Amino acid sequence: MFYQTITSRRQFIGRTGSAALALLAGMRSDLRAAEVSEEFLFIGAEGFDSHGGWDLDQQSMDQTGSPYLLAHGLGVPVADAVTKVTFPSAGTYRVWVRTRDWVAPWSAPGTPGKFQLLIDGKPLEETFGTKGADWHWHDGGAVTVSEKATIALHDLTGFEGRCEAILFCKDTGFTPANDVASLTKFRRKLLHLPDQPDDGGSYDLVVVGAGLAGVCAAISAARNGLKVALVQDRPVLGGNASSEVRVWPEGHTNQQPFPHIGDIVNEILVPRPKTSGTLNGTGAENFDDALKLQVVKNEPNITVLTNHRSIATERSDDSIRAVIVQSTLTGRRQRLRGKFFADCTGDAVVGYQAGADHEFSVGNNMGSTNLWRPLDVAKEEEVLKCECKDKDALAAAFKEGGTAQPFPRCPWAIDLTDKPFPGRKNSKGQWGSADPLANLGGWFWESGFDKNPIDDIERIRDLNLRAMYGAWDALKNVDKLYPNHRLGWAAFIAGKRESRRLLGDVILTADDFRKGTKFEDPAFPCSWHIDIHVAHESFSKEVKGEEFISKATEGTGFSYKGPYWAPYRTLYSRNVTNLFMAGRDISVSKDGLGPVRVMRTTGMMGEVVGKAAAICVKRNTSPRGVYQNHLDELKSLMSKPGGERVA
Ligand SMILES: Cc1cc2nc3c(=O)[nH]c(=O)nc-3n(C[C@H](O)[C@H](O)[C@H](O)COP(=O)(O)OP(=O)(O)OC[C@H]3O[C@@H](n4cnc5c(N)ncnc54)[C@H](O)[C@@H]3O)c2cc1C
Repeated sequence: MFYQTITSRRQFIGRTGSAALALLAGMRSDLRAAEVSEEFLFIGAEGFDSHGGWDLDQQSMDQTGSPYLLAHGLGVPVADAVTKVTFPSAGTYRVWVRTRDWVAPWSAPGTPGKFQLLIDGKPLEETFGTKGADWHWHDGGAVTVSEKATIALHDLTGFEGRCEAILFCKDTGFTPANDVASLTKFRRKLLHLPDQPDDGGSYDLVVVGAGLAGVCAAISAARNGLKVALVQDRPVLGGNASSEVRVWPEGHTNQQPFPHIGDIVNEILVPRPKTSGTLNGTGAENFDDALKLQVVKNEPNITVLTNHRSIATERSDDSIRAVIVQSTLTGRRQRLRGKFFADCTGDAVVGYQAGADHEFSVGNNMGSTNLWRPLDVAKEEEVLKCECKDKDALAAAFKEGGTAQPFPRCPWAIDLTDKPFPGRKNSKGQWGSADPLANLGGWFWESGFDKNPIDDIERIRDLNLRAMYGAWDALKNVDKLYPNHRLGWAAFIAGKRESRRLLGDVILTADDFRKGTKFEDPAFPCSWHIDIHVAHESFSKEVKGEEFISKATEGTGFSYKGPYWAPYRTLYSRNVTNLFMAGRDISVSKDGLGPVRVMRTTGMMGEVVGKAAAICVKRNTSPRGVYQNHLDELKSLMSKPGGERVA
């Protein structure tokens, strides 16, 4: 296995005296290049030598142009992000910090995301994260520096401050551009990144997105003899089933008549721990990231590119030639050429960019969740380990500790002072637990029903965080409960349920499940009910437009006789001839998404895609050609153990 090493983060700091950069930034078109003599130092926040306690967030990269650092401290300031820099020369510079006031979109009182910029340990007078609803360059004023300095992002609150870049300009009259296209050009020049992507190699199958669907597709294809690239925009594999999101994978595997479909899913997941309670949001060990990576690493045919996001697709005629991926740590871009592609991004990023037929509705979606859990401070070892964003948050056993854990009022959060929510008094929500604490932060803490789950994801995630902080504030400071508990863990990566769905030769509907429609190309068994979420009316009345609790469909009309074998024709695009898909972006109707989207099921889709891709390469055919001419061969491969490798 080839593991792409990341060139030094320090590469992401650029300095230049180039004359034309101000023009590139789009703000000084009145000047001729020869008249401009700015000198700049540009620091992409992701390029800091140490991120300290800040988290790298790439979720909104398509909107912001670059990942940013997030002070996700659950109310406790995180450790400084620190980097050493060399200025073009000593002297006076004007400083700009690209940031925003994350609660300003709601005109909420207060500025929770405050942070400082320290130069050699000394803060600038300006406090950042305090202005503007949108990403912008916050003017930090003039500062005089020596040639070498240490720069730090110093979080003041632990309440989700964010910084995307820092710019030092010798010309104090210079104003950097805000629009993403100009800014991207400006950034690339200053960071000395090449205009064209580097060659990232040629593959039989390029899998983009490494949730369970993508991981299983890559392993299955590699074991069937293909040269595979696996691209994932996070440092870990698993998507919603990773330790970053912590959704427990459901769905029955290894069903007749293809009892080996599911072998790889079970190989990369830990067995279900013995507990009667929910496993969503439980300790990181239940979502063993290292296990998934190890199984992938054991495959010599897979090149893994973690921390890489696919940002563009190159197409000729009706097929994809390459995807362009960008490192979330260095900004370096690579072109990955492929015979076949598998879109396992959840959001159908590759298919959308390639013009694949798809469905997407905004304003009527299942929402996104950031699972969260309180922490019992009596467990001293866990508290010491956790630095307030516990890697092993507890879900089941809550004991009162002996140390007071004050929590500040959060006037900028959703005001839940006098409103119901699951976990408060007698409110349970749907299928809630008798233990009120166990009703906090579960799957039903969901928002974004009326938003665009792709373009608005930062805002949707932020609304989830405002709901969490508002609820904890109400419990601690209004109801005066849980004096010795504190917030223990919360996902900052949003777990999504629904966005784009790519269309294949069959579009599977919920009625197919209800009627038991039989197809000649059964590919993966479904067993989850027809599970569709909407905002829960009991908790919606007083938070219109900010609904944050959902309920799921249940009972008559939402069940079917399982396992139900869904057809292979849902796993490839009907108009992009070399594109497979696996995961929640396959060819199903809106209600057909309900039963297929659980992750052992999406993993099995990946297993079948890997086998079908092998037939495509061997028989020089398309995904559709496999259905038309090689279905028996696919069924024969599906009957083989997932661990088996072709010679
Ligand atoms: C709170 C919650 C509770 C749920 N409950 C359950 C449950 O109990 N059991 C269950 O099985 N399912 C559950 N689901 C559903 C399930 O988690 C989703 O349907 C799941 O995301 C589907 O897997 P996937 O592989 O399609 O996508 P994901 O798991 O989202 O994986 C896709 C991966 O691709 C990456 N990616 C996206 N774009 C790019 C790009 N351009 N370049 C590179 N990488 C990219 C993403 O970062 C992500 O890691 C729940 C979902 C949520 C949110």
